[in-house]
Amino acid sequence: TYILAIESSCDDTSAAVMHNNKVLSNVVAKQEIHEQYGGVVPELASRAHQQNIVPVVDIALKKAGITKEELNGIAFTQGPGLMGSLLVGGSFAKSLSLALNIPLVAVNHMHAHILCHFIDEQGYDKPEFPFLALTISGGHTQIVKVNSFFGLEILGETTDDAVGEAFDKSAKILGFPYPGGPLIDKYAKEGNPKAFQFTKPKVDGLNFSFSGLKTQILYFIQKSVKENPNFIEENKADICASIQYTIIQILMDKLKLAVKQTGIKQIAIGGGVSANSGIRQTLKQAEDKYKWKTFIPKFEYTTDNAAMIGIVGYYRYCESIFADSSIVSKARIEF
Ligand code: ATP
Ligand code: FE
Repeated sequence: TYILAIESSCDDTSAAVMHNNKVLSNVVAKQEIHEQYGGVVPELASRAHQQNIVPVVDIALKKAGITKEELNGIAFTQGPGLMGSLLVGGSFAKSLSLALNIPLVAVNHMHAHILCHFIDEQGYDKPEFPFLALTISGGHTQIVKVNSFFGLEILGETTDDAVGEAFDKSAKILGFPYPGGPLIDKYAKEGNPKAFQFTKPKVDGLNFSFSGLKTQILYFIQKSVKENPNFIEENKADICASIQYTIIQILMDKLKLAVKQTGIKQIAIGGGVSANSGIRQTLKQAEDKYKWKTFIPKFEYTTDNAAMIGIVGYYRYCESIFADSSIVSKARIEF
């Protein structure tokens, strides 16, 4: 089965071609236009998607070495995401499925961040059901109990900012361009994670909160810069390492609680923040330390990409869960 998958939920236009659970191509066009604005500008994102979508799909098909006539189905991101962005990918997918007369499959973006672990890749094991998924991305922070491919149960989630926002907003305070998460990761490598202490939020159960940490960092930086105008420049690595360390501790505390509550010791991470080297390393160490089995996605399947949409699309296609032509994009969507 050949599936073409389209992802356009935020600011990356992506197309992938799957052969069953294998990725033949996975093309991502990043939108650099947002850097100068310090965040994604929805209107500009939609326009860039519209500009990029045809060439991105063409390249994906070429790289996969197949023609569009050989496709068996089209999968696309129905939501969640920015409405204007979703509409571009959704309308394109709908039109192509009508033109080729092949089934259309709607995919939940967060479902895809979790099931990316089922893409067949050499050197990467697949989790067994049930497992716990920690989804850490630009818009979400959730602990999900995954009972089966389509049986997902949210055990906890953020009550305010997502963990990606915690990274990006902290980076903005430090004067880094958007998205600053990867830069914090980069500078943190050279720093002392215990140089500066931030307090962790107190949130009940398996829920998260990150907005307090951001405010704490803002006040700390403002105060420090007042005393020493070169504070950020002189302590960049230590500040980044300390912020990253605090965020990782917050995530690990909740994961430990989730394992205790469910008795499940298989943990898979997903979403853009699972690209973070500190998180990847801490999770790997947890295998020995807590006897967990951890699943860390291949780097290219962490931030937004169409291959992860393709794997969910493939499983839905196998179950004949097709979308009809009246399907609409949704900014918010449940599993
Ligand atoms: P969602 O998936 O919730 O709809 P999104 O699709 O916009 O949100 P993703 O592409 O999944 O988000 O993730 C983007 C986020 O990942 C950004 O906040 C970015 O800063 C963060 N990120 C990417 N790489 C790293 C890294 N190495 N360290 C920390 N954060 C990172
Ligand atoms: Fe995402």
